[in-house]
Amino acid sequence: MPREDVTKVVLPESELPTAWYNILPDLPGEPLPPLHPGTMQPVGPEDLAPLFPEALIMQEVSSERWIDIPGPVLDIYKQWRPSPLYRARRLEQSLGLTGKQRLYYKWEGVSPAGSHKPNTAVPQAYYNKQAGIRKLTTETGAGQWGSALSYACATFDLECLVFMVKVSYEHKPYRRVMMQTWGANVHASPSNETQAGRNILEKNPESTGSLGIAISEAVEIAAQNADTSYALGSVLNHVCTHQTIIGLEAKRQMEAFEDVPDVVIGCVGGGSNYAGISYPFAMDVLEGNAKTRFLAVEPEACPTLTRGIYAYDFGDTAGTTPLMPMYTLGHDFVPPPVHAGGLRYHGDAPSLCGLVKAGMYEARAYMQTPVFEAALQFSRAEGFLPAPEPSHAIKGAIDEALAAREADEERVILFNMCGHGHFDMSAYDAFLSGTLVDFPLADDALDASLQSLPPQPAPA
Ligand SMILES: *Cc1c(COP(=O)(O)O)cnc(C)c1O
Repeated sequence: MPREDVTKVVLPESELPTAWYNILPDLPGEPLPPLHPGTMQPVGPEDLAPLFPEALIMQEVSSERWIDIPGPVLDIYKQWRPSPLYRARRLEQSLGLTGKQRLYYKWEGVSPAGSHKPNTAVPQAYYNKQAGIRKLTTETGAGQWGSALSYACATFDLECLVFMVKVSYEHKPYRRVMMQTWGANVHASPSNETQAGRNILEKNPESTGSLGIAISEAVEIAAQNADTSYALGSVLNHVCTHQTIIGLEAKRQMEAFEDVPDVVIGCVGGGSNYAGISYPFAMDVLEGNAKTRFLAVEPEACPTLTRGIYAYDFGDTAGTTPLMPMYTLGHDFVPPPVHAGGLRYHGDAPSLCGLVKAGMYEARAYMQTPVFEAALQFSRAEGFLPAPEPSHAIKGAIDEALAAREADEERVILFNMCGHGHFDMSAYDAFLSGTLVDFPLADDALDASLQSLPPQPAPA
């Protein structure tokens, strides 16, 4: 029986996990390697060396199940970790649930930057510092990743250069100021700092930018300077691995609640926060020791897992990265301006896509209006103000609970509250004032962007 006298479990620092879980060796089927787009051969560590330090490249391809978390990273994690896990008692009450359906959420909004992203920004900064790197470059859309990396660079005394998509740079000035407060240098992208940026500006001086363009700018600077590396906030294996600290803590916390989740839910942009909470539970299913269900939630406006196709595609718009096997909408997909800026990516982490393909993970998409309705219902009951991204997970969790009540079934639901929405007040304003609109994706628009898929490798 679950503990009914507990609302939140806060683990002591002594129970902070000391190793991350790497799911690669446990994934079903033969692993599909990333391919070099020129040769169609698997990319080797040497292809990645201009951009990433060796330690992260080794983690990217590691077949070790457990990767020790370095002491200096643990020390910084302790600034906000272990993060709390809540039983959403007041949300349950507001939904009219009576204890047969139980809702739990892991709260990552307590980190300095306000999301799960510092879980990987901090170790990435650490390994770069160890390798003698002086400066990190990256891109940011909504600003969550740029904030997290700026904070992490400040903790390890690294320079940080952020290319922020111009439309966000103009609409979210406080995210920019947050990064500058931590000492980062922030440019609106496309910028005049790089050849990639200048090329775009020459063709279209009014360009408002895109994540794909910003990636090209950040990569260019890192590739040209030996003392500079590039850092990515999602999608890659090492990022998903770092995020498993979320799920490893959550497992211990669910044990403290004396309850076991039937379904684990998270939102998916590039897949890292959902990988983070779910992979440690997936490990038990892959070993045959549990029957947990997994539900990935995404926006209807950028429906990678629910309407994309499983193929090799580029990670960026310009088509410069290795080809990755994943569900994709096509790398030149231009997502509509939904408020969940962190969920507007054309692909997803290959490991997560593999689990969806294998039928072990389910996926569902929602329009943003019902997502904001769920966000309000949550914040009026639980108090915390979720970012638009995890509000997708909240909507999924509420629907699971109501479906179970309808069927008169017991259901224990765990979801990831991966960030607060304190910089998303204009989105809430739009919802509250009735000006929020939905962006259903037309079939012909999807068909057009799928045309950008590169030639596929011959079947082995
Ligand atoms: C970046 C971000 C996301 C999306 O990225 P994932 O890699 O899928 O986690 C979701 N929520 C928040 C709060 C984010 O900052």
